[in-house]
Amino acid sequence: MWLLGLILLWVHGFAPAARAQVILRDAETEMLLHDIARPLARAAGLDPRSLQILLVGDSSINAFVTGGQNVFFHSGLVVAARDVNEVQGVMAHELGHIAGGHNVRFTEGVRPAMTFSLLGLLAGAAAMALGAGEAGMAAMALGQQAAQARFLAFSREQESRADQAGAAYLNAAGISGRGLIRFFEQLMGDEYRLAIPQTNSYNRTHPLSGERIRALEQALKASPAWDRPPDPALQARYARVRGKLLGYLYPLETVLKVYPETDLSEPARFARAYARHRAGFAAEAIAEAEAVARARPDDPFAQELLGQILLESGEIRRALPPLREAVRLSGGHPLITGLLGQALLQAAEDGRNAQALNEAERLLRTTVQRDRRNPQAWTQLAAIWAMKGDPPRVALATAERLSLTGGDPRLARRAAEQALAGLPRGSPDWLRAEDIALAAQGEIERLGLKDTEPGRRPRS
Ligand SMILES: [Zn+2]
Repeated sequence: MWLLGLILLWVHGFAPAARAQVILRDAETEMLLHDIARPLARAAGLDPRSLQILLVGDSSINAFVTGGQNVFFHSGLVVAARDVNEVQGVMAHELGHIAGGHNVRFTEGVRPAMTFSLLGLLAGAAAMALGAGEAGMAAMALGQQAAQARFLAFSREQESRADQAGAAYLNAAGISGRGLIRFFEQLMGDEYRLAIPQTNSYNRTHPLSGERIRALEQALKASPAWDRPPDPALQARYARVRGKLLGYLYPLETVLKVYPETDLSEPARFARAYARHRAGFAAEAIAEAEAVARARPDDPFAQELLGQILLESGEIRRALPPLREAVRLSGGHPLITGLLGQALLQAAEDGRNAQALNEAERLLRTTVQRDRRNPQAWTQLAAIWAMKGDPPRVALATAERLSLTGGDPRLARRAAEQALAGLPRGSPDWLRAEDIALAAQGEIERLGLKDTEPGRRPRS
């Protein structure tokens, strides 16, 4: 498995032409993107807590919004940006689409509050943005889910309105618009940066023109914030996240070109630690992570990095102290708590240690209570409940995982029905299984799937 501490949530539609899309989950990256969005959302009159900001593991440069208040950033955009100010600018523009109601509309009957529909929304949107970026008429080939969504690239008029709205948010928040102008100019010029070939699909989902950039510049230059440099603390956090994503997603040779050995900065160490770990150089990866963790004993993500790499290198006992520290320092961030739960589960499996198993169960329960969109945590809970001889809860965890990973909803429904058959009727877990079964049923009907699956008799 090449996955590291970042959690991958596979999201894919049923349409054969829809390429699998991956949502990357990483505590540090998500916190950064939310902190970037917060002052801009307030300026836009949006509640920052109702925004969902999702990172798509895709090396092309793009960002887009969908129904509800979902903002998607491709990892390629975060990596390509020259500084945090460019990301702030793009965020302001995307929030302009949301506040202006330009988001993709879905047909009636999609109820975003339901897990399946929410993920269906994500899957459809992700696949469609890809289609729109790569081939003009691809939305037609993307099948039912895409066809329902009536996705089109934004009109020129919507683009100018999002530009002007985004400029107003940046100005109101006292953030310079220089980054946005530079980002757009570079996309217009299709300049490739770094040693990394990147495709630019942003230009096609948000049609750019010189005229548009000049109008935007005029609105931004008028602000006293125009000459203000980005907040150094935010810039440092961005640089580290960029290093992390680069190290996580690109080949070691590419990473070493961007961050040569001589670069002892934190972003370089994060990048090389991940890249070396992925390339199988465990000792070197641990050495880089140890250097970061020693230099930053109070930084939850530095401790998390070391803990993850030790855990995934099979050094489970050594992984526990930095992971416990990361949980404490992050105030119990659910993604990091989930990682500690995973380490304890492995420790329990190795040593037949009932105490570690109980602690793992408690931590992973807390993880999914606070953020259920964590397929790995459900996989681990299923393993724990299997070890404890609790088949109905294994079925429940399986149903939860299947409802997140965008597969055939008939499989999720079957797992949920198995859970319902064995759990105490009316208990919280039973009610949850019922919710999943109902949502899966709705999804089956929405997709027009036959009510059968291999090995299953038709429902009477
Ligand atoms: Zn746009």
